[in-house]
Amino acid sequence: MLDKKFWEAILELLKKYNNTPHHKDGKILGSMTTTPHPLAVYAYLMFIHTNASDPVIFKEIENMMNEIIYELAKLYRGGESGILTSGGTESNIVAILAAKKVFSNKSNTVIAPDTVHVSVDKACDIIGCKLVKIPTNGNPVDASTLEEYIRKYNPFAIVITAGTTERGLIDPVKDASELANEYNVYLHVDAAYGGLLIPFLHRHGIIREDLRFYDGVSSISVDFHKNGLTPIPSGILLFNNKRCMEKICYNAEYTLYGKYCGLLGTRPGGSVASIWVLLKHYGLDLYEKIALKTYNIATYAYHKLAELEELKVFKPILPIVVFKHKYINYIELLREILNKGYFLYKSPSLEALRIVIMPHVEKSHIDDFVNAIREIMQ
Ligand SMILES: *Cc1c(COP(=O)(O)O)cnc(C)c1O
Repeated sequence: MLDKKFWEAILELLKKYNNTPHHKDGKILGSMTTTPHPLAVYAYLMFIHTNASDPVIFKEIENMMNEIIYELAKLYRGGESGILTSGGTESNIVAILAAKKVFSNKSNTVIAPDTVHVSVDKACDIIGCKLVKIPTNGNPVDASTLEEYIRKYNPFAIVITAGTTERGLIDPVKDASELANEYNVYLHVDAAYGGLLIPFLHRHGIIREDLRFYDGVSSISVDFHKNGLTPIPSGILLFNNKRCMEKICYNAEYTLYGKYCGLLGTRPGGSVASIWVLLKHYGLDLYEKIALKTYNIATYAYHKLAELEELKVFKPILPIVVFKHKYINYIELLREILNKGYFLYKSPSLEALRIVIMPHVEKSHIDDFVNAIREIMQ
């Protein structure tokens, strides 16, 4: 046992190191992270000893996982199987790996709009495939351009994004699914950020595009550690059918289960428990509320910033507000904003800065931020 003195000393030391910024202070306005829900944290800790890659020893985790997939299948109207991943990055790598194995007869190429997340570059680097980016000029890709690229490159996979990182754009999921069907190619929808927003905002008539397993969609990835209020790491990769899922499983004779699926070996069962408990307790309503709240605050932030004449502000699609100064370079402006204690990210393709309205962001944070911008510009 630790004696009391030593215990106190070590706690002191931990506290000393815990002067990281916290989301509740309202200064973290760029990162897609947020404060996890206390119930999710509780469940995470309760199952902290479990390994989600061992469904023999920890069959309860597998049961929870099955219930999560069942709930998500209702939301996306499809998705037979899925795995817990470390997040959008692992999901993208694993989806492309599955695609490459299913469509081994095609050219060794993935096509994606140039707004695709950097983890897809990483995936192709690891898997050894060529990534062809479709120039979009910062718009969702249009169906005819996508078709042109499919014909030209005969890819084994198309990756589109439902909620791009820099701007919150939604590529046309339905159009892409029809092309994927017609040309018999794997379609992965990266909805790491938008996955828990789009179905609800669509239902409320706020956005036109919907996100679901249209015929032709092979996989959808969604991060719960973004708008799902669970601790990091918790992503889910859903497959339209079990056959794809089997392609990313590898024999591991020495284990009781006999195989490992996905990129990781051991993976946190606590993450599964944290997603499960929120779904059990609140149902999908929780995410609907978050989608509406963050969207409303994004609209508020858009109007507040647009009042400043020196700024060009892009109308939010999802709860991401992109803005730039008409004369001052965005990197220079970012430096000033960082000096004020705020953390924003960039939208380099628009030479602009980006606020992501995560669940912890309140209107008062936006007011304070706009005041800080005013001070900088004076
Ligand atoms: C956040 C995000 C990722 C990466 O997810 P991680 O959880 O950081 O691995 C990939 N794609 C999109 C669209 C994202 O928003």
